[in-house]
Amino acid sequence: MAAAAAAEGAAAPVAAAMRAVLARAGRAAERSGRAAEAVRVVAIGKTKPVSLLRQLYDAGHRSFGENYVQEFVTKAPQLPEDIRWHFVGHLQSNKVKSLLAAVPNLDMVEGVGNEKIANHLDRAVVSLGREPLKVMVQVNTSGEESKSGIDPSKCVELAKHVKLACPNLILSGLMTIGMKDYSSTPENFKALVNCKLEVCKALGIPTEQFELSMGMSGDFEQAIELGSTNVRVGSTIFGPREYPNQKQN
Ligand SMILES: *Cc1c(COP(=O)(O)O)cnc(C)c1O
Repeated sequence: MAAAAAAEGAAAPVAAAMRAVLARAGRAAERSGRAAEAVRVVAIGKTKPVSLLRQLYDAGHRSFGENYVQEFVTKAPQLPEDIRWHFVGHLQSNKVKSLLAAVPNLDMVEGVGNEKIANHLDRAVVSLGREPLKVMVQVNTSGEESKSGIDPSKCVELAKHVKLACPNLILSGLMTIGMKDYSSTPENFKALVNCKLEVCKALGIPTEQFELSMGMSGDFEQAIELGSTNVRVGSTIFGPREYPNQKQN
């Protein structure tokens, strides 16, 4: 008995880590007056092998995310089709088509930081004949110089472009990464909440129907308490990232 239980635990440590994250996320949601189900936990598997992601899938998890196109297009086809994939972070326009072609079950792109990438995504959806794609506008809430994310002062403009000029995209919400080193402050989260209020007001979207993607391993509970509906958690589930060489993409 004890041996069997131990073996089972050893078989899927990521499943146990996931359960702990879901429990913490659920309690944070309740502290913010929402149901645990109101917050989605996207398991970010970058640099981790398909076998590890498969363990989480077998434990019942379905929301997964990746951050490097090259890695994503290799891994996604090896995993079941009912996974709801998110692309998170900076996406280059010349990789849009290969991403959408390789991942038909791509559910959302978290990280539309300019009109050009929105237009590329919109056209790729049409040319591949897939169903409309959910996207989140990425906002640079830290003020740090960065290639990804629009300035908060321009978030309404970009959201408007996605909603009105990109008929094949569904504007689902806003996301932020925080600082360049991937840490966040409460100010980053509050800046994103402010952008959400502005966008909802300008576009007539009910606030409860507009998502906020903020919070990662180190700060997802705080992000949820400030209103996040979608947290992107990698290393707390899968362990520290393993980079074979310095840079992928
Ligand atoms: C890697 C990554 C995450 C997950 O980061 P952890 O700190 O490991 O949880 C979240 N969001 C984006 C955009 C990422 O690239």
